[in-house]
Amino acid sequence: MPTATTQPQTLSGSVARCTRCNACVQSCPSYLLHKEETFSPRGRVQILRLLLDRKLKYTPHQTPINQTMQDCILCGRCTLACAGQVPVAHQVLALKKAVSLPVLPFPCKTFLAWHARHPRWFDFAVRFIQRLRAWHLFAVFGENMIPLLRPIAHLHRILPAPKQNLRQLLPKTRFHQAPKKPEIIFFPSLEARYIDPTLALTALDCFGNKEVLLWPEMHSGLAAYLLDDEKLCLQQAKRLLTAWEKTGGKKKLPFVTDSWEVFAFLKNYPFLFARLPGWEKRARIFAGRVHFITDFIKAKKSYPQKTALDFSGLLSLPKETIFSAQKILKTHFGKNFVECEYSRFPVPAEIAALSHVSQAEKMILESVKQIASKQIKQVFCLSAWAAWELNYALQKHYPCAQAKNIVYLQAKNDRI
Ligand code: SF4
Ligand code: SF4
Repeated sequence: MPTATTQPQTLSGSVARCTRCNACVQSCPSYLLHKEETFSPRGRVQILRLLLDRKLKYTPHQTPINQTMQDCILCGRCTLACAGQVPVAHQVLALKKAVSLPVLPFPCKTFLAWHARHPRWFDFAVRFIQRLRAWHLFAVFGENMIPLLRPIAHLHRILPAPKQNLRQLLPKTRFHQAPKKPEIIFFPSLEARYIDPTLALTALDCFGNKEVLLWPEMHSGLAAYLLDDEKLCLQQAKRLLTAWEKTGGKKKLPFVTDSWEVFAFLKNYPFLFARLPGWEKRARIFAGRVHFITDFIKAKKSYPQKTALDFSGLLSLPKETIFSAQKILKTHFGKNFVECEYSRFPVPAEIAALSHVSQAEKMILESVKQIASKQIKQVFCLSAWAAWELNYALQKHYPCAQAKNIVYLQAKNDRI
């Protein structure tokens, strides 16, 4: 999803912006694996153009169209390479929803639906699963198990060992009580809320002595957006926007998140409210105050290890945020910072990793090869998910390197 200023207002409008220049093709991991035009971003846009012009008719059993749409990992790298910032990932997602192609595998879709619609069930289910993981009951899921459960087995392999969740950990910290005069609002990622709360505590270190208001129970509307529940998505977005306005008043507090996907989604709020002019204006002001956590990471000393950045994520990659993360890493690691050529094969975004486990494994192996050939020792990822996914593959194939979430640049030693 590109930023609000570049986002065209309709699907056909955004498709028409493609000049077929070919600049995006080499940036697409699915094209690099298949080497076929239909698997390139340009190919996908052309298929969409033909469908919208009714020169091509979609039927549910059209396997080549389904396959090329399913093989798009929604990473948004094509949009980064495209001078016109054509939002291919956004278009592919819209098509998938329109023709009911699964965006997420069944168990993950159910979880996301619970998170968006029944947060208490979601909470309970996560705690129950963490308990099962702690008892090693997931080990019974082998490699060749029922396909429906493969995403769960994959999750179990890549996720860090079960820990307390953020709500259980907060009472032991100074962030337990809401400050009277907050200076920053922090919206932790789902990963930080439920899987590794040290991510949230480390992110909070970035704010120094500032009074931080934590919003771990709020919804951004992203889950509902992925589930194509427009009503709920708008409802949650309006609630968040109103709460932000009330909390900051005239001050317009900075709104910070450590979730790459939520950051991109919030930056796109004005587009979400395109049909509601009053809300759109408010959303534009809000989007201007939204920050990714890298804006608050402070430069420290240099480290003697070859380091790279992986900017894999879901849906969109605002260029300016990647450049600022690269700048931070260059400041930290000086000449040991390696420009990430391996990002030709990005870590699969969540959706690809869970819905096409074998394709994701092929892709990640290519990333590992590139990391090994450059003798990179550590990779910082902008998304916690990408860090876990990559770290699992590195430990398996190239154990002298490791992947971490970028917030750990700020970590105190006891946090990691
Ligand atoms: S999507 Fe952008 S970069 Fe790719 S062919 Fe179209 S205009 Fe060129
Ligand atoms: S979003 Fe990623 S996988 Fe999909 S077409 Fe663009 S570069 Fe390729």
